[in-house]
Amino acid sequence: MREVHRVVAAPERLGLDMIAIPEGSDVTIDVRLESVSEGVLVTGSVSAVAVGDCVRCLEQTEQHVEVPLVELFAYPNSTTSQTTEDDEVQLLVEDLIDLAPVVVNGLGDELPLQPVCSEDCPGLCTECGVPLSSAEPGHGHDTIDPRWAALLDKRDGMDSPRS
Ligand SMILES: [Zn+2]
Ligand SMILES: [Zn+2]
Repeated sequence: MREVHRVVAAPERLGLDMIAIPEGSDVTIDVRLESVSEGVLVTGSVSAVAVGDCVRCLEQTEQHVEVPLVELFAYPNSTTSQTTEDDEVQLLVEDLIDLAPVVVNGLGDELPLQPVCSEDCPGLCTECGVPLSSAEPGHGHDTIDPRWAALLDKRDGMDSPRS
């Protein structure tokens, strides 16, 4: 059994449309490799920071993700590889294990389809588009300030015919 702790650069953008581990960013691999009769069993986890845009306020948001790994990398001529569809088993190619496809699969389960910067992100004002998290408390457009309301009343009075 061999333990592998390594930090590598993401070989490509890994993840989903809305949020992903950027290409070149640190990916921490923390796995155990165990020789089994059919190949090599890889268990452990891969962790990294995914970057995406909050779907509510469009601010950039970062999220730590950890993908648990339990994957058998079968030897190319093993029974497992011969009795399983090609796309259902990862093959060891000249003893090199390509973790990237497995990590991408795992990320699909770990990353949110609709990332938010925080669970209670209030999003954008539907009237003027400012992020409500940085707007003044009670930001809104549907209520008229009482002082303006009074002025509007007067103007109405002047506009309306008196006769
Ligand atoms: Zn947000
Ligand atoms: Zn507004």
